[in-house]
Amino acid sequence: MQRLFSLMCLALIATAFPASAQERLKVVASFSILGDFVRNVGGTSVSITTLVGADGDAHVYSPTPADAKKIADAKLIFVNGLGFEGWLPRLLKSAGSKVTVVTATAGIAPLKLGSDADPHAWQSVANAKIYVGNIRDALAAADPASAQGFRANAEAYLAKLDALDREAREAVAKIPQARRKVISTHGAFGYFAAAYGVEFIAPVGVSTESEPSARDIAGIITQIRTAKIPAVFLENVSDPRLIRRISAETGARIGGTLYSDSLTAEKGDAPTYIDMVRHNIKALTSALAN
Ligand code: ZN
Repeated sequence: MQRLFSLMCLALIATAFPASAQERLKVVASFSILGDFVRNVGGTSVSITTLVGADGDAHVYSPTPADAKKIADAKLIFVNGLGFEGWLPRLLKSAGSKVTVVTATAGIAPLKLGSDADPHAWQSVANAKIYVGNIRDALAAADPASAQGFRANAEAYLAKLDALDREAREAVAKIPQARRKVISTHGAFGYFAAAYGVEFIAPVGVSTESEPSARDIAGIITQIRTAKIPAVFLENVSDPRLIRRISAETGARIGGTLYSDSLTAEKGDAPTYIDMVRHNIKALTSALAN
C-alpha cells in the first residue's frame, strides 16, 4: 500500500513538473510559421528553435554559424520544402549532423507557377492541417514516450484550425464577388486564393528573390485600371515602395499589410499563425467590403 502511494506521488510529481530542458526533444523549424505549428503540437515536451525569425524572409535568408550549431544539437529539423528554403542543403552539409529532416508539406499537392512549385502552402488552412499531421507523426516517432501528448495537442490545435477555416470562408462570402481581387507584392497567396476565392495579382513571382521589370509594373497598372481592382496590400517581408508607387499611379487604395511568409514579434499583428490568418482576413474584408 505504501509502495502504491509513493508511486502515485511520483506520478503526480511527473505531471506537475514537465520534462526539464535537457530531457526535452530538441527540434529546429526553418521559419516562424512552421515554428508556431511545432510549438502547438510539441507543447512542453519539445524545445524548439526557429532559424528565420519574426518578420524574416526565408526566401533570401543567409544562415549563420549559430544556425549550424542549432541543427547539430537537434534531433529533428522541420522544413517547408517545395523550394522555399534554397539555402538549407548547404547549411545541413555544414552542420554535418545526422538530424532527421521532416518536410512538413509532404502530402500536399503543390500549385505550380510555370515550372516552379509555389511554396506558400500554409496560406490555406486546410493545408496547415496537413502540416500539423506531419509534425505530430514525426514528433511521435522521435519521442514515443510523449506520443500521446503530441496527439492530444494536435487534436486540440486541429479543432482550432477547423474553426479558423470556417471563419475565413464566412468572411470572404460577405465580400461582393466582383470585388474579390487584390494586388500584393509577391506571389504568396496562391493557396489562399484557391481555397477562399479571392484573386491575388502580384508584380513579383513566388520568390522575393526576383525584382519586377518596368514592363511587369506597367502590366499590373493596366490590370488594376481595367479590372477595377479596389485595393493593394503591403507585406511584412517585401519592400513597400513598389506597392506605394502602384497605389499612387492607379488610385487603388492601400488596404494595409498582409502577413505572408513570416509571423511578427509578440506585440505585432501576427505573433501566431491563427493571428496571422485572422489579421489577413480582416484586412481583406475591410478593404474590399464596399
Ligand atoms: Zn514568399
